[in-house]
Order: sequence, then structure tokens, then C-alpha cells
Amino acid sequence: MTTDSTSGPALFGVCGAGTMGSGIAYAAALAGYTVRLYDIGEEQIRRGADQIARFLQGSIDRGKLTAEAADEIRSRVATTLALEDFAGAEIVVEAAIERLDLKQDLFGRLEAIVPESAILASNTSSLPITAIGARLAHPGRMVGMHFFNPAHIMKLVEVIEGYRTSAETMERTAEIARRMGKTPVRARDTPGFIVNRVARNFYGEAFRIVGEGAATYEQVDRCMKAVGFRMGPFELMDLIGIDVNFAVTESVYEQYFNEARFRPHLIQRKMVESGLLGKKSGKGFY
Ligand code: NAD
Repeated sequence: MTTDSTSGPALFGVCGAGTMGSGIAYAAALAGYTVRLYDIGEEQIRRGADQIARFLQGSIDRGKLTAEAADEIRSRVATTLALEDFAGAEIVVEAAIERLDLKQDLFGRLEAIVPESAILASNTSSLPITAIGARLAHPGRMVGMHFFNPAHIMKLVEVIEGYRTSAETMERTAEIARRMGKTPVRARDTPGFIVNRVARNFYGEAFRIVGEGAATYEQVDRCMKAVGFRMGPFELMDLIGIDVNFAVTESVYEQYFNEARFRPHLIQRKMVESGLLGKKSGKGFY
């Protein structure tokens, strides 16, 4: 990774210390970055720090890290409640909740703090990168950096080119992903990008099959695994959160002007309305 002899390892900022933010912060620390992890409250940053501590302990337990190496990695990550701590950042990756106005506001504030050379990246799953960066004075630095859950393990990172993202920002973002041991794939700013768009039909057809009474959830999952998928669509939705999956489906559908092939299924809505959200609520399809 790039180092600057006057300031030490480059600073990697992460905004939002939830599921994705803590994983991204951990991945950046593993890659040798100095990391600042921001969230809006003490409770949230403590949860993020605890999550990183669990990742480290897991690596020690599996013999992948020595206790000394883990201490060293931990020492590179600091949590903060002040965005000002991102002054000097090479990149800030935003992994806050999925709301356009909140993300626009956050990047507006960040732009006034970080150096002009800093990359501003969003980990959004379903919002247009172009819209997130629309209010920036320098939108060329705004890019999508879409990690997958768990972010410190999954290799793929979609690097999303908004309408105004500069070629240099795309190149540098892909390079940072590679430094983190990731496999960057470039994508244009279309709804769902690549993976979440392909996945819409993976879930959508599964729902139609079950909805028509052609097969059960279990049968669909068993078939998909028998042909090589790690998980079936229903198991995977239980893991992701049926509400989260439904929100992405609705968003992609609306962004494609209600194109029929992306239409959500009634079963999805019923599950969410019933509070059957999958693993996190204790019950979903399973
Ligand atoms: P999460 O709910 O676990 O975490 C979101 C965090 O954002 C919370 O800690 C919350 O306190 C914080 N937050 C709220 N307002 C904030 C603000 N103004 N500034 C900074 N932080 C704020 O959510 P998550 O699953 O980690 O998702 C975060 C982002 O990553 C979303 O944009 C989501 O679409 C995207 N994403 C999620 C997944 C996934 O599988 N969960 C995968 C890829 C991308």
C-alpha cells in the first residue's frame, strides 16, 4: 500500500459501523491501512469495535493470526464520533443505512473535511451512485465500492462508475480494492449493478415456482444446491434478511420503471408484514 514518509500508512475512513462497515474496516486494517470507523453514537461504535474484536479472535482461534499480529491490527483501527477525524484520508467508504438523503448529506459534509484528492465511495446496494454524488462540488471523486457480506471474507468488490465519476477515481478505487486482497469488477451505475441484478431473477423465479405450487421452498433450495449453488434462494434470503432482500427488490423494480421481470412477489411482502425476517428474527422460510 502507499505510504507517505511524513504521515505513515494511508488513512482509510469508514462511515457506519454496522454489519458492512465493521467488515470493511477490518479488511482495510488487515491490508495495513490506518482505519477510522465513524458512527453516530457511542453504542454503534462500540458494537463495531466489538465486531472487529470478534473477527480478530476468530482468526486467532483458527490459527490464522498470532495474538501479537492481532494486537497490531487492532491498534490500527480507531472508532470516532467526529467526521473531522477523516481529514487526511485517502478514501472514505460510506456504509451507513440505505437512505439517499442521508448519504447525500454525509458526503456533502465529508467533502468539506477530506483532502481534494480523497476518494468518496459508497457501499450502497441499491441507490444510484450518480444521485448520491449529485450535490458534490467535485463529483468526479464519487464512486461505488460495493462489498459483499461478510466484507472481510468475500473477494468480489463491484467498483461502480457514476455518470460523473472520473477515470482516475475508477482506477484508484480498483487499486485500493486489490491492495485489500479483493477482486474488483467495474460496473456502470445501473439498478442492482451486476450481482444484485442477476440475483433478482434467482429469487424472483424461485418465488414464482413456489407461488404456483410447483415445488416447496425446500425442494427449490435442494435443486439449486444440487446443481452447484452454495445456498438455495430461500436459505440465502433467511441469511440476508427477508426485509433487506425485499427492499432491494422493490428498489430495482422501481428504478427500472416497474419492469415486470423485476416485480417483487406477494410472498415477500407477507413474510415482512408477519415479522418473519429470517435468521435475525429467529424464523423465516426455515
Ligand atoms: P447496518 O444497519 O448494519 O449498519 C448501518 C450503520 O449506519 C448503523 O450502525 C447506523 O448507526 C449507521 N448510521 C446511521 N446513520 C448514520 C449517519 N448519518 N452516518 C454514519 N452512519 C450512520 O447496515 P449494513 O447492512 O451494514 O448496510 C450498510 C450499507 O451497506 C447500506 O447502504 C447497504 O445497502 C449496504 N450493503 C449491505 C450489505 C448487507 O449484506 N448487509 C451488502 C452490501 C452492501
